[in-house]
Amino acid sequence: MSCRACTGHGQPSRTVHDNVMVRTQYQSPDLIDAIAYDGADPATDPLWHLSGAASRAEYGRWCRHCCGMACLQMVLEHRDGQAPTLFALLRGCTAAGGYVEQPDGGIAGLLYRPFVDYVRATYGIFAQVCPDLTMDGIRDELNQGRLVMASVHKEIRRPDREAPGRGGHLVLVTGHDRELIHFRNPSGHSDAARYGVLAAQTFATFFAGRGVSMSLRAQP
Ligand SMILES: [Zn+2]
Repeated sequence: MSCRACTGHGQPSRTVHDNVMVRTQYQSPDLIDAIAYDGADPATDPLWHLSGAASRAEYGRWCRHCCGMACLQMVLEHRDGQAPTLFALLRGCTAAGGYVEQPDGGIAGLLYRPFVDYVRATYGIFAQVCPDLTMDGIRDELNQGRLVMASVHKEIRRPDREAPGRGGHLVLVTGHDRELIHFRNPSGHSDAARYGVLAAQTFATFFAGRGVSMSLRAQP
């Protein structure tokens, strides 16, 4: 790993992880705009099979819940140069209790504590649940060499509008540079939304104050 930020050599005023490539929870990024704003069914995605799902129906049912798995793909690629498919991660994480199918057919998750245990046991990622995270807390996690999966409102992809709420969707925070926050959005509907850079005070209006930090360094 050659990323200086991962080794904890960031600076208090600027720590940005190098070359974190975005992965999206929908296999065709060009369809995200229609899925988000025109009612398009994600199961119509012609590239659904690249997800590792067993069927188009399975993909359609689960992909809306896969933001955290896309973030994990980004983290693993940042460390290893490659990552398992979205559904390989989803199956492992579900088996660990990170997603729970409800009696009414709904899906609960991503549940942070089982996720943390799963990524530690399976991938050697030292992850921690951060239930009370401030913007300064995010900066501190980054300065310590970590990446931060943060709970934000999905409408952070349109930050020029007022935030309709906080939380419910996961993005991967990859850096801070003075007043700016750098992040990757698995459901970004444009390149600018997928490779997000926002003023910290704007990011904060979408942020629920919780997330998971992940260190890619080998632990003692
Ligand atoms: Zn890094």
